[in-house]
Amino acid sequence: MTSSYDAIVVGSGPAGSTAAWQLARAGADVAVLEKAALPRYKTCGGGIIGRALQALPLDVRHVLEQDCHAAQLNLFPAGLSFTTHRPTPIVSMTMRDQFDFALLSAAQTAGATVHQRCTVEDISHCGDGVTVVTNVGTMKAQFVIAADGALSTVARKMGMADGRVLIPALEYEAILPPDQLDKFHGVARFDFGVLSHGYAWAFPKNKHLSVGVLSTVQRGRDLKHTMVRYLERLGCGSATQVQRHGFVIPIRPRTGPFVEKRVLLVGDAAGLADPVTGEGISFAIRSGLMAAQSLIDGRFEEEAVRHIYTRSLAERILPELQRGGQLAKLLYDFPRLRSWAFSWQGQRLCEAVTDVMAGTRQYRDLTFRPRTMLRLLAPPKLKHLAYEPARHRDGQAE
Ligand SMILES: Cc1cc2nc3c(=O)[nH]c(=O)nc-3n(C[C@H](O)[C@H](O)[C@H](O)COP(=O)(O)OP(=O)(O)OC[C@H]3O[C@@H](n4cnc5c(N)ncnc54)[C@H](O)[C@@H]3O)c2cc1C
Repeated sequence: MTSSYDAIVVGSGPAGSTAAWQLARAGADVAVLEKAALPRYKTCGGGIIGRALQALPLDVRHVLEQDCHAAQLNLFPAGLSFTTHRPTPIVSMTMRDQFDFALLSAAQTAGATVHQRCTVEDISHCGDGVTVVTNVGTMKAQFVIAADGALSTVARKMGMADGRVLIPALEYEAILPPDQLDKFHGVARFDFGVLSHGYAWAFPKNKHLSVGVLSTVQRGRDLKHTMVRYLERLGCGSATQVQRHGFVIPIRPRTGPFVEKRVLLVGDAAGLADPVTGEGISFAIRSGLMAAQSLIDGRFEEEAVRHIYTRSLAERILPELQRGGQLAKLLYDFPRLRSWAFSWQGQRLCEAVTDVMAGTRQYRDLTFRPRTMLRLLAPPKLKHLAYEPARHRDGQAE
């Protein structure tokens, strides 16, 4: 017998589970199809930034292992180091098996049906619905939300345009002696100059250190050598056990459309990771909630849903990713300019990016407004220019 739902969500990451939660609490008959057995390990630093926690309408404190009120950025070739502090956590550390399972459980409690070990193999549009073929049978729905991550089978089977840039990243979970682990407590560490285009990070968890590296250009093979050097630099050569994982991060969104034939793309499937940091959970959550709300507000009518979701992305997520992309280009493609900028205004740049991570500012507030860029980058001699207030026609200072 074929099961039939108002909506099927493929994937139980943060994008899929928040979408299912939103739909279920609105009274929709929704199913989540997840290929893994749950809870499942996910290759990820497990850094939940303030912006992500702000977007999340659910309480997940019980799965956060450690709050980092400080972030440290080191720039190795230049020998520079900056630390920022905030009263609220800049990044909260979790393990994704626990975090994702908490979100999915909330969706289930709200009324969503969960099918685990259920792999979507094919999908097709059929008049006023969508048919989903899985390893355990065929299901139908009025709409499908594709939250199946960076390698999205759903988008590929639907022939949806891509254009994303998928970059390689490694994540090692390193078990350290307690006295060594203590040195990393409470600080999210970001290291530039460890490789030419990219950065490395060290995120403290309760029982181990999550160490990662991403490259905007290099191949995974080269990243392994970088990781060995980085672990030594961190003084983690004596780690008693290291689990090694690798995956990709989409740092440029799809060219679109993001909705086609009753299928909506969210999270990594849509390509919504932050191009500056590779952080993907905040826009996964926001796009998941937006897709669900589009179905609700559009009363499950194809054209209305398409219009609402497309407009929501265009207004609330894509411009931010575009501005982030411009900043990422400066950061990763022009290392000498980066060193110069950080040697002059490193603390202010770090404060600005910390604000974005904490969710108190947006990239669009800080990049490429000429005055803001001058303010961030200007050497002291030019500061009088940077702070000169622009005036509107009515003479009011901006
Ligand atoms: C090394 C690394 C470190 C990272 N660190 C961070 C970090 O610290 N903080 C952060 O915010 N982001 C980080 N990211 C990015 C982040 O992991 C992703 O952006 C985020 O997980 C995207 O969420 P999602 O819900 O779109 O997809 P995912 O979390 O990838 O979830 C997709 C789900 O779909 C399921 N699925 C896939 N195909 C099928 C199928 N055919 N049928 C059924 N189910 C399917 C998968 O099993 C999975 O559960 C990192 C990424 C990498 C690679």
